[in-house]
Amino acid sequence: MSALGTAQTQLQAALEYLQSTDTTFDADQASSLLSKPEQLLQTELTITLDSGKKASFKAYRSQHNSQRGPYKGGIRFHPEVDAQEVQALSMGMTWKTAVADLPLGGGKGGIQVDPKKLSQPELEKLSRAYAKWLAPYIGPWQDIPAPDINTNSQIMGWMIAEYAAYLRQRSSQLKLPISTNPLATFTGKPLSQGGSEGRDEATGLGGAIILDLVAAALNWKKPDTTVAIQGFGNVGWWFGKHTAARNFKVVAVSDSKQTLFNPQGLALDEILKAKKDTGKLPTKGSFEVLAADDIITLDADVLAPAALGGVITQQNAAQVKAKTIIELANGPVASEAEASLLKQETLIVPDILANAGGVTVSWLEWVQNLSGDHWDSTTVINRLEQKMTQAFNNWQDFRHAHPSLSPRQAAVVLAVQKVLAAS
Ligand code: NAD
Repeated sequence: MSALGTAQTQLQAALEYLQSTDTTFDADQASSLLSKPEQLLQTELTITLDSGKKASFKAYRSQHNSQRGPYKGGIRFHPEVDAQEVQALSMGMTWKTAVADLPLGGGKGGIQVDPKKLSQPELEKLSRAYAKWLAPYIGPWQDIPAPDINTNSQIMGWMIAEYAAYLRQRSSQLKLPISTNPLATFTGKPLSQGGSEGRDEATGLGGAIILDLVAAALNWKKPDTTVAIQGFGNVGWWFGKHTAARNFKVVAVSDSKQTLFNPQGLALDEILKAKKDTGKLPTKGSFEVLAADDIITLDADVLAPAALGGVITQQNAAQVKAKTIIELANGPVASEAEASLLKQETLIVPDILANAGGVTVSWLEWVQNLSGDHWDSTTVINRLEQKMTQAFNNWQDFRHAHPSLSPRQAAVVLAVQKVLAAS
């Protein structure tokens, strides 16, 4: 099923459930409010390439829901970006900010491009063209973009510069002073341009906080609890570091080429150093080297997919040995695989809770920018821990009160209720 199909099915199931518990609930009205974005912006951006030729790229921004606050969500540069994908992802952001109890809504944007095929000047031109196009539709109280797949703090820096130029031009046209704070319009910025401490590690750390809370709730013996992490990029690395620091045993990590496995636990710092030095996971060390996909079916208590969507499929779900899957990537468990995992009594900690640490620190970045402050890393991390703990406890309470719902359904129904309560 497509990402949009899955998102729509989840929403309709949540609305049916709410109707089954309250006969006065108007599912049709709720569906017309939530099944489509409040605004879907799309265009074609044309830039001049280094060769002198022109090239055009499809660009999108889906502003799904702003009942709880300004739209919030990343901008991705990827060949598969399209109108359906941004709509699905923006709906997911509405649920994520609601589950994390942030005063924000949901948005997502992107450009259909393979950024690896662009030179640095071409990438800068395209990023600036996107920000120029989007400028009238964003702002600290309107829509707050951030980095996502293949975009980073440098790209946010270019976008802010373009956005600030738009504000200057508009203020001179209207003969009014600039009243918008450009820094509070983007998050995931470089520290030198108003970024927050702790943003890099936020998603992985948030996931580790959630896993620790799961372990406490289920009375796991932590030193014996083994963890396998698919993807050793930003999220996978920080999640590994913080779970190891919390006394879990990380026994496997993988990238697109291979899996490294040691049932006694991996030396993560050494592996990261090798990856930083060579750009790849090492092939020699105190571990066994297995195929990349073996990570999914390894003997580990916890599987943490931190790479791509749709990696746990109908085909491999029955071979998943982990009793807990913590979804650090967005949508790593395909909807077709979920039913068999639920039958196997695998606990799936849903992405809208498990990876909400990133948007939580983005929210803290926005708060700092709006208040003209810069907090130290301890302050940011303490607030992240507090927010993630509160979100986890709310989800647990909701699951106990609604035992017929799966863990994911509980998170979606909880989010939908919160959004409707603000409407
Ligand atoms: P990243 O690019 O830093 O890392 C991704 C890693 O996945 C890389 O190490 C890559 O080698 C690996 N990978 C790619 N294909 C793979 C495959 N087939 N098997 C195993 N590994 C593979 O990205 P990231 O920022 O760490 O994000 C990871 C996931 O988490 C993405 O799905 C992203 O959408 C999601 N996410 C990220 C954040 C964030 O704050 N960075 C927030 C929420 C969700």
